[in-house]
Formats: sequence, C-alpha cells, structure tokens
Amino acid sequence: MAALDGLPPLRDVIQRHGLDARKALGQNFLLDLNLTQKIARTAGALEEATVFEVGPGPGGLTRAILALGAKKVVAIERDSRCLPALAEIADHYPGRLEVIEGDALKTDFEALAPEGPVKIIANLPYNVGTQLLVNWLLPKAWPPFWQSLTLMFQKEVGERIVACEDDDHYGRLGVLCGWRTEARMAFDVPPQAFTPPPKVTSTVVHLTPRENPIHCAASNLEKVTQAAFGQRRKMLRQSLKSLGGESLLVKAGIDPARRAETLSVEEFCLLANSLVMTKASREVGT
Ligand code: SAM
Repeated sequence: MAALDGLPPLRDVIQRHGLDARKALGQNFLLDLNLTQKIARTAGALEEATVFEVGPGPGGLTRAILALGAKKVVAIERDSRCLPALAEIADHYPGRLEVIEGDALKTDFEALAPEGPVKIIANLPYNVGTQLLVNWLLPKAWPPFWQSLTLMFQKEVGERIVACEDDDHYGRLGVLCGWRTEARMAFDVPPQAFTPPPKVTSTVVHLTPRENPIHCAASNLEKVTQAAFGQRRKMLRQSLKSLGGESLLVKAGIDPARRAETLSVEEFCLLANSLVMTKASREVGT
C-alpha cells in the first residue's frame, strides 16, 4: 500500500532491515497504515501532546501518530534490530521522534514525562501488556502523569479491563481499572490484520483517569480483590476469612453471603477501607 507520509511501505522496511518477527518479543506487526491511523485517532487530538509509545517495532503506529500531528513521540523499543528503521522515521520528522532502546517494564515513564499533556498509545507486546497497564494505574499521585491510554490487547484481556460486576470477565483487573479510570473498548482487530497473525482477536481499549476516584489504598484494594476473586465462587465470608471474614464484611456493610463477582468497584473500595479500620482497631486493642 502506498504510504501517505512519503516513507516506504512497511513491508519493504521490514525486508530491508531483516525484521523477521520474534515470538519471544510479542512481535505481531501492523502494516496497514489506515488501521494504525484508526488506532492513533482513538487517542483524540494529538497536536499538543507528547505520546509515549511502547514497542514501535518497524514503526507503523509511530508513523500514524506522527502523521496525525503529535507534537512529540517518545518510543521505547527493546529490539535493537528496529532502531535503524525508526531512525529513518526520526529523520523524516525532525525533532519529533525520540527512540529509547530499553525494556518498558524497567522504564520510569513518569520521570520521562515533560510538561504538558502526555498520551500513551501502543500495540503492546502481549507478554508484558497487563503488567504495564497495572503500573500506569498505580502511581501514588492521582490524576496521573498521563491523560489517556490507548492500548491494543488480546480481546479477552480487553474484556477483563472494561468488565463490571455480574460480568463473567469481572475480576481484579476490572476493579482496578474501574476504580481509577473510565475504560471502554474502541474496536476489535482481527488476527489477519497482523504480520504474523496471532491466534486470537485483539481489541483497542481506551482509558481516561477519573478525576476523583474513591479514596482508597491500592495495596488494600489488591489484598481484598486477590482474596475475593481467588475463590470467586465462594461466599465472601469464606473467601475473605484471612482478612477478617464476617466482621470485615459487617464493618463495610456488605452481606457476608454475597460472592466476589456481585460487588461493585465502590463496594470493593469500602472493603479496602474497612480493612484499614479493622487493622487499626486491632492495633489499639478495640
Ligand atoms: N508497534 C508495532 C506495530 O504496531 O506494528 C509493533 C508492535 S509488536 C505487538 C510489540 C513490540 O514491542 C515489538 O516491536 C517488540 O520488540 C516490542 N517489545 C517487546 N517487549 C518489550 C519491552 N519489554 N519493552 C519495550 N518494547 C518491547
């Protein structure tokens, strides 16, 4: 397909630089620039934004983000084979693309964030995608350094991200995302859109931070969701036994006979906050 940005077609770039896809790095490349533009457009206006991209690979999504006018793109790529291809894009857009060779899991994104709006857009490597999302959801300060996350996941992970109570996909990830963000699935991407095609359908998820999420310690929310969903078919009085069981639930005003999947995000926050109170009252001997 002819490229709108005057750069060579991605298939040629991949061939010229010998970028055969490596499974261990989660490399499923997007070569259709209409599709990469659709992903970039999901993030909204980019002109004022610095975009962090994880895993630019040969640069299909990077090119779309730049073509749509992003002020600057900072791209973190682990595979050094991709750097020459990305350098060609950087030459084409002087001063607008910075490539950092490294592992996104070890990158301090907050420290890299400049003044002004930051958006994160990525076709994530599947093996590290969920961990990166959780890292971006857990900074102490809120609202966070980013204004939005526009991320490609396996569809099953996307369903867990946007799930609410009474949904089969609802679990720890849904509670964490629902607590601090508004999350929606934007659109699905079929396996054949990628080179090589993965086994499953993917989906683009868009998350924006809630301005005032319920005050709650992330570590306690983690504790209660881990225990509750660890035995999701059991009644909460049983699954939360190690955290105080019935007395914790009574303190939070939640029926001990309910099951994890029926609790709203707000109720999980109540439980997390009651956990603090329970611990505090144990400490002062009340
Ligand atoms: N953005 C490109 C696209 O859409 O065609 C490539 C996406 S591919 C699914 C994932 C990319 O992430 C690969 O380029 C891979 O080398 C890179 N990658 C894998 N693990 C990484 C990590 N821990 N940190 C940074 N990049 C990583």
